[in-house]
Amino acid sequence: MNTTKYIFVTGGVSSSLGKGIIAASLAKLLQARGYRVTIQKLDPYINVDPGTLNPYEHGECYVTDDGAETDLDLGHYERFLNVSTSQANNVTTGRIYQSVIQKERRGEFLGKTVQVIPHITNEIKERIQLLGNTGDYDIVITEIGGTVGDIESLPYIESVRQLKWELGDDNALVIHLTLVPYLSAAGELKTKPTQHSVKTLMESGIRADILVCRTEHELSDDLKTKLALFCNVKKDAVIQSIDASTIYDVPNMMLREGLDTVTLNKLNLKDAKEPDLDRWNQFLQRHKNPKGKVRIGLIGKYVELQDSYKSILESFIHAGAENEVKVEVVSIHSEHIDTNTIATTLSGLDGILVAPGFGERGIEGKIEAVRYARENNLPFLGICLGMQMAVIEYSRNILGIKDANSTEMSESTQNPVIDLMEDQKSVTNKGGTMRLGAWECELKEGSIVGGVYNSKIIEERHRHRYEYNNDYREQLENAGMAATGINPDTGLVEIVEIPSHPWFVGVQYHPEYKSTVANPHPLFVAFVKAAHEHAKKK
Ligand code: GLN
Repeated sequence: MNTTKYIFVTGGVSSSLGKGIIAASLAKLLQARGYRVTIQKLDPYINVDPGTLNPYEHGECYVTDDGAETDLDLGHYERFLNVSTSQANNVTTGRIYQSVIQKERRGEFLGKTVQVIPHITNEIKERIQLLGNTGDYDIVITEIGGTVGDIESLPYIESVRQLKWELGDDNALVIHLTLVPYLSAAGELKTKPTQHSVKTLMESGIRADILVCRTEHELSDDLKTKLALFCNVKKDAVIQSIDASTIYDVPNMMLREGLDTVTLNKLNLKDAKEPDLDRWNQFLQRHKNPKGKVRIGLIGKYVELQDSYKSILESFIHAGAENEVKVEVVSIHSEHIDTNTIATTLSGLDGILVAPGFGERGIEGKIEAVRYARENNLPFLGICLGMQMAVIEYSRNILGIKDANSTEMSESTQNPVIDLMEDQKSVTNKGGTMRLGAWECELKEGSIVGGVYNSKIIEERHRHRYEYNNDYREQLENAGMAATGINPDTGLVEIVEIPSHPWFVGVQYHPEYKSTVANPHPLFVAFVKAAHEHAKKK
């Protein structure tokens, strides 16, 4: 018999309350108590996946091992739990409808009228139970994107209602995350928005089992009593979630509030052990007590929105803790870099990271930033587009190929040192068609990466269409840019280094997707270490 328990996390009052972090923190606590846990995110928008979204819309697109382009919350899940997610962990309305419509076209509904209830809701319920039915998890946490009351969330809320009824109270529960705002003029915390939000949920037939209240000030005992009474929950199920200085504090805060114990009681899980958070707390200890500091320039074109480079920023936090240094990331807009001002814009940095990206905007600034790092012996890490810019820079300024470019930026260039991959040439659809997910790469002995990783063959996640053009490999290698990581099946160059430079690495893949609290990514750890050595020399 399948005994998987289901936890649903809904949100009310406002968006951006941090449902993903609450879900990840609860999952962490349950995992620390010995349960096998995974988290899933259901997104109510109509895009089939977030891969086609501009980062300004929803922040970074996170990529899983199996090549799913997903919501950035999956990054938090992996970073907290150190467990891989997959396509099944992120489902959008677009995907649900796509699947139902395909079934209709195949005649699978046997002449029936296809409707939101039951066909869309059945598809949603199936997707929710897919992970539980694998038998790999004791508990599945499903985060429902959006805010209760939104038109587009309705089929999800209805599916939760049905599932909760079908599975029974011991096997499913609903956590509702709301906001308790502080009105400074009145000097008071206000419970009314929470009451209304719980009422909206009730109108859809769902009673919240646990309330998590996001607040800027402590909730008094009286206020918790009031919320419990008006919102139909037990007082120990009113959980305060006060603003934290780092998201990594939230699991311990939830532990103190007893979110895990109320959850376990309600799900009738009685044999839980005490949570083992040793590794987590060691990380926090190092993160909060740095012995030094490094300043790293993050050169990108979506820098106005911090969420665009979420996984990179988190990777620096993990790598900083590992090195016991504080990593100050200085976001620099690549469109603001030009040859006249570059020395002032980039002065005082201990390392430069040129970020992933798409399209022509801002790339000349990225190329100049690479040149600055190369000429000034500054530790450099180029990721995906950043690696491609490093190859272009070297070709232009060292090989003297003035028009070296990527065919992404100039289709007609005579010197496409970065070129569209062969199997991309026939691709016309934009969604889900890049080279995605984990691919193998063989590392060259004696190189930086050869020393950084523990094994000769690594697997890293990709998301790109263009690639290092092997026609230029001999010239580049002879001129001092080494290819130190090669895909063993295709011969594609995935990593470049400059051995005469103290620390210069460009990678075609995205190491940032695999950095977790328990396993900081070795490349980020080594980059921060190199930057720290640079800082000490100053
Ligand atoms: N635009 C480049 C490509 O498609 C790089 C992609 C990226 O940085 N993720 O190859």
